[in-house]
Amino acid sequence: MAIYRLQTAYLPQGWSCDVRVTVSTEGIITAIDANAAAEPQLGVEPPPRSPGTAIERVDGIVIPGMPNAHSHAFQRAMAGNAEYRLSARDSFWSWRQAMYALANRIGPEELRVVATQLFVEMLKTGYTSVAEFHYLHRPSSAAHYAGANLLWEAIGDAADTAGIGLTFLPTLYQSSDFGGAPLKPEQARFALQTDAFLRAIEERIGAERRGGVGAGVGVIRTGAAFHSLRAVPLDQLREAALALRAMDSSMPVHIHVAEQSLEVRACERATGRRPIELLLDQALLTQHWCVVHATHATAEELQGIAAANATVCVSTSTEANLGDGFFDTARFFKANGRLCIGSDSQSTVNPAEELRWLEYQQRLRKRRRVVLATKGESHVGTRLWRDAAVNGAQAIGQPVGTIAIGRRADWLVLDASHPAMAGAAADAALDRLLFAGADKSIRDVMVAGRWVVKDRKHGADDQLRESFARIMNGLAAG
Ligand SMILES: [Zn+2]
Repeated sequence: MAIYRLQTAYLPQGWSCDVRVTVSTEGIITAIDANAAAEPQLGVEPPPRSPGTAIERVDGIVIPGMPNAHSHAFQRAMAGNAEYRLSARDSFWSWRQAMYALANRIGPEELRVVATQLFVEMLKTGYTSVAEFHYLHRPSSAAHYAGANLLWEAIGDAADTAGIGLTFLPTLYQSSDFGGAPLKPEQARFALQTDAFLRAIEERIGAERRGGVGAGVGVIRTGAAFHSLRAVPLDQLREAALALRAMDSSMPVHIHVAEQSLEVRACERATGRRPIELLLDQALLTQHWCVVHATHATAEELQGIAAANATVCVSTSTEANLGDGFFDTARFFKANGRLCIGSDSQSTVNPAEELRWLEYQQRLRKRRRVVLATKGESHVGTRLWRDAAVNGAQAIGQPVGTIAIGRRADWLVLDASHPAMAGAAADAALDRLLFAGADKSIRDVMVAGRWVVKDRKHGADDQLRESFARIMNGLAAG
C-alpha cells in the first residue's frame, strides 16, 4: 500500500487541492480524501496536513492517464516513411500497399523492439494504456508458429518492459473484400480461421484467470477484434461474436468500420446496405464494442451506435494523414455518443494533439470557436480529456480513466512551473495541455501505482536508443 498527497488533481467531481490517495499493492485506488477548493490557483501552497511516514508528496497537477483505444504497433516503423509520392494519385489504398510491404518484413524481434519504443513514447505523451489491434499472426503465408505465437508474445513483452496497460485484441482477418474474396498474397500473414481464433483467445483468457498472463502486472486484458466487414464475412463475424460473448460477457470487441468512402460504396454494391447499417442490423453492438473510425457515418448510423452505448474511436491524426475524411464529432456528441481516441498508424503519438484536432476540425468547418465545450463544462480542453479518458476506459475494458476509488492508479503529473502553464488557473490546465503546448509539461507518469516515467525519463530509454536504431536500420535496408 502507498499513500500519495497530490498538490492539485482532477477528480470526477472536478479540480481539487491537497488530495490524499491510497493505492493498494495491486495498483488500485482504495481511498481518496479530497480537500477540494473552489478556485485553486497553481503554485499556491495547500494547507499542511499531519504527515504520515509513508506519504509521498506529488507536486504539480495530476490528471487521469489517457487510454489509447486503437493502435497497430508495427506501423510505428512506418511513421514518416510514406510521405512521398507512391503513385500518381496517392490515397489510403496506395499507403496500404506500402504498409503491407512493411508488415511482411516484421518478425517477432522487430515487433518487440518497435512496440517497446512506441509504448514508451505513448507513456511520455500521456497514454497510460493501449488497445493493440493485432492482425500479424503468421511467420509466412504457409507456416504457423508451433505452440505459442511469437508475434503475440512480442506485444505482451513490449508492454511489460514499458509498463503500459495493455488490452490485447487478436484480430480476425479472412477475406480481402466484401463477399468473402480470398486474401491477397500480401495479406497472407493476417489469416486466421474462426476456430483457431476462438481457441487462442479462450486459452489466453484461461491463463489470465489462472494468473499466467500479465501476472504481477495486473494491467493486461484480452479482448478481440474483427478487422473490418470486408475482412470477415458476416456469418463468420456473427458466429465468432456470439462465441466471444459466451466466453466473457464483458469482453472488449473492436472493429474498423466506414473509414473510407470506397469501402462504403463497395459494401453497398455487395450487400445493398452501408457497413454501419449492416453492423447495426446484426444487433450485436453493446457497451463493450468499439467502432473504430466511423468516418463516413450518417446521422442515423451515429444515432444507432450511440443508442447501443458502444464507443467510437477516432484517430484524427491518422484520418488526416490518410485523407480519410472528417468524423462528425458534434453530431455524435449531440446524440450522447461516447467518443475515445487512438494513435492507430502512429503518425502522431500524442493524445493532446488528437483532441486538439478534434476541436479544430469543428472550428474549421463551422467557422466558430470552442465548439465541443458544453454548458456543464465550459473548458473544452477539460471536457475533451475527461470524456475521452472515461470512454477510452470503457472501450479497452480496464478500470482506468478517472482518479477514483476502485480505479487503477494511472495518472500523469504536469509540471506547474513549466512555461506552458505560467499564470494558468488550475481549471485551465487541460486547455493549456491541448491548446498551448503543455503536453511538454508531462513530467511523471504512473501506471498501476508504479512510476514508469520520472522527470521525463523511462528506465528503458538508453537500451532502446540503440536497439530501436538497429531494428529501424535493418528494416530500411530491406
Ligand atoms: Zn486501425
